[in-house]
Amino acid sequence: MAGTNLVVREAPAVGPGSRRYRLDCAHGSTSAVVLPGGSPLGEQIALQMLLLRHDRDNGCRCSRELRPEYAGVARA
Ligand SMILES: [Zn+2]
Repeated sequence: MAGTNLVVREAPAVGPGSRRYRLDCAHGSTSAVVLPGGSPLGEQIALQMLLLRHDRDNGCRCSRELRPEYAGVARA
């Protein structure tokens, strides 16, 4: 969907190696922080929860466009 953007940035204020995932769309923004040391599966679940929470909190369906793309990144 045009205007839907998932950004991943380091989150040094949270702790070394932490990453903040932020999903922005025309309806709102949703973010989550993934702490270092977890498993790839744990990070994948956290991101899936972020996408679902975004749609629930903003009453939109924007994350559906990102799910296939995200799944490919998570397996890389
Ligand atoms: Zn949205």
